[in-house]
Amino acid sequence: MFKSIAKYLILSVILFLSIGCNEKNTPNSTTLTVKEEIKQKQKVEIKKEKPKKEIIKLDKIEIKKIKEPKAKTIKPKKEILTTTAILTATPKIKKEPAKISTKIISYPKQKLTRKSSIATKKTIKNFDFDIIKKGFKDNNTLLIVGGIQGDEPGGFMAASLIATHYTITKGSVWIVPNLNFYSIIKRSRGPYGDMNRKFANLSKNDPEYESIQRIKSYIKDKSVKLIVNLHDGSGYYRPKYEDKLHSPYRWGQCSIIDQENISTKKYSNLLDISNKVVSHVNKHLIKDEDIYHLHNTRTVEGDKEMEKTLTYYAINQGKAAFGNEASKNLPTHQRIYYHLVALEKYMNVMGIEYKRNFNLNDKVVKNIIDNDIAISLYNNKIKLPLSQIRNILKYFPVKKDGTIDFVPSNPLMSIVKKKNEYIIYYGNRRLARLKADYVALEKGQKLVKLNIDSKDKNIEFGSLITVKNDFKVYNTKDYRVNIIGFTNKTKKETDTLISYQKMQKKFSIDKTGSTYRIEFYKKKKFAGMILVKFAG
Ligand SMILES: [Zn+2]
Repeated sequence: MFKSIAKYLILSVILFLSIGCNEKNTPNSTTLTVKEEIKQKQKVEIKKEKPKKEIIKLDKIEIKKIKEPKAKTIKPKKEILTTTAILTATPKIKKEPAKISTKIISYPKQKLTRKSSIATKKTIKNFDFDIIKKGFKDNNTLLIVGGIQGDEPGGFMAASLIATHYTITKGSVWIVPNLNFYSIIKRSRGPYGDMNRKFANLSKNDPEYESIQRIKSYIKDKSVKLIVNLHDGSGYYRPKYEDKLHSPYRWGQCSIIDQENISTKKYSNLLDISNKVVSHVNKHLIKDEDIYHLHNTRTVEGDKEMEKTLTYYAINQGKAAFGNEASKNLPTHQRIYYHLVALEKYMNVMGIEYKRNFNLNDKVVKNIIDNDIAISLYNNKIKLPLSQIRNILKYFPVKKDGTIDFVPSNPLMSIVKKKNEYIIYYGNRRLARLKADYVALEKGQKLVKLNIDSKDKNIEFGSLITVKNDFKVYNTKDYRVNIIGFTNKTKKETDTLISYQKMQKKFSIDKTGSTYRIEFYKKKKFAGMILVKFAG
């Protein structure tokens, strides 16, 4: 007991020293206590990053699922590189290898296409995790892992935002935003036990066995040099006991290492890197209580539980590995914020450069995760904005074989089939339930002619059009038109002007009653959908 108290005391001294040492750029830093300094910095930050109502464009990252749901192999497919720079190598090049080998090769664009699935032990492979590679191929790769436990949204949503909202301008970042995707959908820490205790020994019969082998292969990959595993932990970790919520037995708000050093060429000083991250996060605190600490679990000294974790496995593969913990006592968007602040420091430590087109503060993060989400179905026959979507959409066209093919705007999205319902999930969030109207799908796309506020326009399926006053769908031989929520006595839905007043609000797809479906059919086959948003 006394030993461990002594350890914490030493740790806290180290921490205080390290914070002090890293504060080089602040004037007056010698006269301020750490807390005061943090406060002061916070003020500066707040001034700098005044949250504005920003419209954030989704970085057009398309993500590819590594394998089809039914594929038997679990090994990642070989990357196909888009440039031929390396292939053109000839013996001549060997004379001046330094110049030639620095050719920069970006990762190919990845496109994520998915299928709806029921979620049971037998279909667990349909929820295999994604690996998203960003930036430029090199052997100084950062591997970010989120979602090892399904009830820690701060971690997996932060990883996912790096995938969708960051551009890597220098260096290489691999992101696994949904390691235990099945547990994310089930909103459970681990339906088949804690995945972060499966890295030592694991039975081949374990339902997660193949996932573990796959993530191990990425950890072992020779280009990966540093790994950050993101968690949301309870309370606030403190080296010294303060109260029940702030103590050495809590896990929130800390940077975790298993030991101070590892024997490897790059990033061997885990303690030093972790201290840099802690110090950086502490310059960007939302409030004092959220202060980060370094937490060395000293796994090798006999922590049998920690020996089974992903990070301990990684350091035994000679890779620098860290846990990053936000607090479960914070709202999700603030947890995401802290993870992003920490991840940016890890990138900085590794010389990786990035761009993001938003100000990093918790309010902007909330806006992004709440509003910047959409899903595209059946090769874009339907595109649903999801920010204000109703809980239930009735008579929704679903392919007769009972599956929905979709492209999500975000790797954390899934569609889970439950009897005749299709539930759209975004991480742990259940966004909408689609009540199926089973139909055959008409292949092909034709433009349809609409009149929008007295102007004729040719519109593609999958579009969302904004209407100020009224719109009209022209009659056509090609399609039968069904405007959901509009009925008139003649039952005529084409060649008739439709204004907001004529729509029955309960049929809107959104909670605010402003967006409606126009569906197009060829005989009985569903051809496509256009959404009309009244914004008068
Ligand atoms: Zn965790």
